Amino acid sequence: MTLQHPIHEGKVKSVYDVPGDATRVTMLFHDKVTAWNGKHVEFPKDKGATCCLISALLFERMEKEGIKTHYIDCPSLNTMLCKKLTIIPVEVIVRNVAAGSIVKTTTISEGTLIQPPIVEFFLKDDSKDDPLLTIDRVRLMGIDPTPLQMQALDINYQLQALFTLIGMDLVDFKLEFGYDAHGDLFLADELSPDNMRLWKKGTKERFDKDLFRKNEGDIVEAYKYILTQLRQFV
Ligand code: 5GP
Repeated sequence: MTLQHPIHEGKVKSVYDVPGDATRVTMLFHDKVTAWNGKHVEFPKDKGATCCLISALLFERMEKEGIKTHYIDCPSLNTMLCKKLTIIPVEVIVRNVAAGSIVKTTTISEGTLIQPPIVEFFLKDDSKDDPLLTIDRVRLMGIDPTPLQMQALDINYQLQALFTLIGMDLVDFKLEFGYDAHGDLFLADELSPDNMRLWKKGTKERFDKDLFRKNEGDIVEAYKYILTQLRQFV
């Protein structure tokens, strides 16, 4: 499988066609972490498998709650078999607590509770530094934001309930969506501490990629802790 050329090469994952099957792809999670649009890179052992296993577990949980995801199976520790989709070029961010870019670009202080949660859209284009979009711009791009907002809030509700069980506050997260050949919408990409912020309940102790972004600790150790905790409930 790894001898094939990927059909898509992301910063930390590669996507391959499944020979003889036009409806599925294989996503390989690398032992790699990047920040600042790829400018800061490390290759921590077990990171790919840990993100893959957390994603598989959370996708399975979302499916049980009636949310359609691209996840089919996890044939090995760091590979995921997925539905082939046309990915919508918009990153959908849900925020429950202010952190990251909303703090940098507004007057809102880190840690402010965002109630009700908000959904934001960013362009999925590293060459343009993923700018914040307006709803009007999303529509002008030919994308209907409403189903994305509704799905994102539903996913947030489910994820918040789950992370509360393991003593974590779900601060924010990024989602990607895509359409299959019939035009049906599916949750895509990954669901792991690489694309969400998780703070130990009532504190700002991080268990997510900010540990790497801010050089504050071992992400694999933190991600493995999340995986072990989630396994008790999913
Ligand atoms: P922010 O807009 O504060 O930078 O990010 C909000 C949330 O989305 C954070 O949990 C962050 O990890 C996630 N996020 C935003 N953009 C990206 C991205 O390009 N890659 C990944 N992995 N996560 C992202």
